[in-house]
Amino acid sequence: MSEIKYKPTIGLEVHVELNTKTKMFCRCLNNPDERQPNVNICPVCTAQPGALPVINKDAIWHILRVGVALDGRLADFTEFDRKNYFYPDIPKGYQISQDKYPLVSGGSLRGVAITRVHLEEDTAKSFHDVKTGESLVDFNRSSLPLMELVTEPVINDGPTASAFAKELQLLLRYLGASEANMEKGQMRIEANVSVAPEGDKLGTKVEIKNLNSFRTVEKAIDEEIKRQTGVLEAGGRVVQETRGWDENKQTTFSQRLKESSHDYRYFPDPDLPKLFISEIPEFRNVVESLPELPWQRRRRYAELFGLKTEDVEVFVQDRSLAGFFDELTEGLDHALDETKEYLKVAANYITSDILGLAALAGELRLPPVGDYAELLKMIMGGEVSSRGAKDILTIIIKEGGQPRQIAKERGLFQVSDEDAMGAIVDKVIVDNKNVFEEYKAGKEKALQFLVGQAMKESKGSANPGLLKKLFEQKKG
Ligand code: ADP
Ligand code: ZN
Ligand code: MG
Repeated sequence: MSEIKYKPTIGLEVHVELNTKTKMFCRCLNNPDERQPNVNICPVCTAQPGALPVINKDAIWHILRVGVALDGRLADFTEFDRKNYFYPDIPKGYQISQDKYPLVSGGSLRGVAITRVHLEEDTAKSFHDVKTGESLVDFNRSSLPLMELVTEPVINDGPTASAFAKELQLLLRYLGASEANMEKGQMRIEANVSVAPEGDKLGTKVEIKNLNSFRTVEKAIDEEIKRQTGVLEAGGRVVQETRGWDENKQTTFSQRLKESSHDYRYFPDPDLPKLFISEIPEFRNVVESLPELPWQRRRRYAELFGLKTEDVEVFVQDRSLAGFFDELTEGLDHALDETKEYLKVAANYITSDILGLAALAGELRLPPVGDYAELLKMIMGGEVSSRGAKDILTIIIKEGGQPRQIAKERGLFQVSDEDAMGAIVDKVIVDNKNVFEEYKAGKEKALQFLVGQAMKESKGSANPGLLKKLFEQKKG
């Protein structure tokens, strides 16, 4: 019996609420944290007769920047269209969106080809009270600027889909386009999943809605792939439908069958002007306005700073930490070995100690850059032990203060006084004659023991590097 191999295919549709002061077509506040319903509303975003929309340029600006970052094609001519359908959360009876002329076409992210990125308005939010049977609508969200990004059907598994979504979230944060917080509904993902025999054309797709965490995106896709594969292996057919994710059962479930494909009767919104992007002065320096992007930072941290992959990712994911590191390392000569060592030490204390303290405190607290730089100098010069450095770092983060002052007050300087240390070394040699003889005879292990004894003798205050040097000198 020939075994048929099935190949899964996934395309994503991602909606993102953009970070703007006001809504997409009116002056109402765009405040995702507003808890009081129906306060950020006006005749435009509640669709009162005769109210006229005005385009929010900041929203277009965000999409153009996303387009440049994704290496997509920016539209010159663009327009807004009415997408007609009825639902209580769209008071106009249509949603303003973009049909034939999206702001961005093409591009890619993490190797996933992007079909388009366009701008539309968000819907209001409905609440269904099961007890009273009432439905309530909050129009605060009505007409917020919403980005829609659609990928080509080129993803083949759940982890790749969720990694794509994570990278998109990171990019949006770098660009200041959106916080893209999934729990808050600022980033909403729909996954289209199909399975077909390897080599065949794409199978019937199922759309999974309401995936509100990266983990759910990954899990729901992988479960849906298993389900569809099972259906096909049993000789069945996958039906085109919309499914949801049941967190308790960890399966997808049917929500509604796809009625013959929707006809939204798109047409250009006659209340809004058509746009030629190149003629609008505010959009002239989109390209120059981009900050360093996540993948550019990843490269710089790996290649220029030579940090290991896990550490690089820590800095790429946390912009305040990267800002701190960049300030700390400004103006260094990267050709020097000394610089490489400095970067390594600087990164180590950040990823282990500073982040360790952050985990305990529940928030990232950074020392003043100058104080941290001073402490690093003390570590590299052997003035403090690594134990001492950790203590000083904790103090400068929790209470503040200058590292040298703290080291002095708490007796954390390693003693590097050759005379004082010489006396200790002499004493240790007398007390451990046999071991010293073994060391002279070439047993390197003996040296560790001798240094250990001398450290003890100095009550931990000695610089072990210096002790080692002194024993070596005594060996002759
Ligand atoms: P629709 O007209 O139903 O909205 P689109 O062609 O616009 O379908 O595609 C919507 C999303 O579904 C895109 O992300 C696309 O990549 C994805 N998609 C399309 N066909 C398939 C398929 N057979 N399997 C998986 N994903 C698909
Ligand atoms: Zn309004
Ligand atoms: Mg579509």
